[in-house]
Amino acid sequence: MKRVVVIGGGITGMSTMHYLQRQAQQQGLDIDLTLVEKGEKLGGKMVTREKEGFIMEVGADSIVARHTSVKPLIEELDLTDRVVYNGTGVSYILRDNELHAIPVESVFGIPMNKESLATSTLLSEEGKRAVEKDLTITDIPFTNESSVGEFLTYYLGSEIVEKQIAPVLSGVYSGDLNKLTIGATLPYLLQYKKEFGSLMKGFEANKESFQKNATKKFISFENGLAELFDRMEERLHQATILKGVSVTKLKKQDSQYMLQLDSGEKVVADYVVLTTPHRAAQQMLSNEALNPSFDALQTGSIITVYLAYDLPNETLPADGTGFIVSKGNNVDCNACTWTSKKWQHTSKNNQLLIRMFYKKNNPRFEEFRQMSDEELVEVARNDVKKSLNIEQQPLFVDIEKWFDLMPIYNLQHKQAIEQLETVMEQQYPNLYLAGSSYYGVGIGLCIENGKQVANKILEVVPV
Ligand SMILES: Cc1cc2nc3c(=O)[nH]c(=O)nc-3n(C[C@H](O)[C@H](O)[C@H](O)COP(=O)(O)OP(=O)(O)OC[C@H]3O[C@@H](n4cnc5c(N)ncnc54)[C@H](O)[C@@H]3O)c2cc1C
Repeated sequence: MKRVVVIGGGITGMSTMHYLQRQAQQQGLDIDLTLVEKGEKLGGKMVTREKEGFIMEVGADSIVARHTSVKPLIEELDLTDRVVYNGTGVSYILRDNELHAIPVESVFGIPMNKESLATSTLLSEEGKRAVEKDLTITDIPFTNESSVGEFLTYYLGSEIVEKQIAPVLSGVYSGDLNKLTIGATLPYLLQYKKEFGSLMKGFEANKESFQKNATKKFISFENGLAELFDRMEERLHQATILKGVSVTKLKKQDSQYMLQLDSGEKVVADYVVLTTPHRAAQQMLSNEALNPSFDALQTGSIITVYLAYDLPNETLPADGTGFIVSKGNNVDCNACTWTSKKWQHTSKNNQLLIRMFYKKNNPRFEEFRQMSDEELVEVARNDVKKSLNIEQQPLFVDIEKWFDLMPIYNLQHKQAIEQLETVMEQQYPNLYLAGSSYYGVGIGLCIENGKQVANKILEVVPV
């Protein structure tokens, strides 16, 4: 019987296992499935913690509902009745110490029409006029590999990009807009420009699909995202799952692979799926031919601080779900989510739960990186006081640090992946790289990637 080993129990690795087991069963194939996960728990960057009636996602907090891979997986796992959706509400941008609502009919701060543009309190009249040039500039000197920052500035002007779009978009994609490609962020914008001659006209033509997705945009589960992993693990009854075990070396051995585990054991595999962050994969393979491509892949960092309060949820504006920080403020955070307002299930007693974000592009990030937890709590409490006027002692705090683990798809990303794939195909048949370091950061894309890899393997496993 052929053995497949999946390394890494994040969403990519677990989706790969789910689809390997499911499709193999459907095709009547007998394969031996093993997953090796370094952590004591499955989930990777999806980590749920519960404390004193609060549920905290200390990594990812939501799954984008409209991705085509999401609903089928939830149905296959019989989790539909456990799904919860985000509360709808206004997101704000904090600029010059004032909260400005991001206009309602906008996508990542990009107005979908002139009416939305008119309601912006962030832009000057001149800035608004510049955006209308979108309707008249029709030449397209851009491709999917062009910088999304340059693209947006070309059609909409620099003011809206700086004040209204960059704070939102660089928050989601963890990077400088001028160094992120259109293809890796919002490829449909280029399509709109080609098809409709204008971004706003493109949004107008696709308004229905955006409106349909305006509510029930993000998904979680009654007991948080961990529920997804608990159910996946429970259903993988034919597989071996090793937790708290790291793969230290991965070597080709004739037509198979030998995995060295930190427990001292060795595992031999016919097929391997490597879903760890790329630095871990690079170390395991330890192959100079791969180093230039691995080294070209960039990562960012983030520190998040939860503060739980014995205050009613209604302490904060009724319509709001949080803010993103722009320029001219006296706070240090990059963003703040009013978690208990965005997600009802996270606070059993209707008490206030707030999450502060500190990102690598923060001018003080290196300082924060060196700080003790006590010092970080001080920074976070100061920010809460200045931005939301809450001075009360929190019931508790929870800090999580993700250092050099957030993939950033810069302008070199695609080329680096192509080079990596070429060497992998030549030197490592039946070994697949998968996951957020390479093929998309969003959870939906990771699920899709896992499914694709499972299908590829099942196509070549001898019957
Ligand atoms: C703070 C934060 C917020 C985010 N918010 C969102 C969000 O709201 N929505 C969204 O769609 N995405 C979000 N993301 C991104 C998303 O969470 C990730 O892209 C996705 O979970 C990555 O899944 P993965 O399986 O590819 O990798 P990972 O989750 O990194 O899993 C890789 C696994 O490999 C294991 N591993 C590493 N080395 C070894 C080894 N040597 N041997 C064995 N195992 C090893 C790790 O322990 C880990 O479990 C967020 C990420 C972070 C950090």
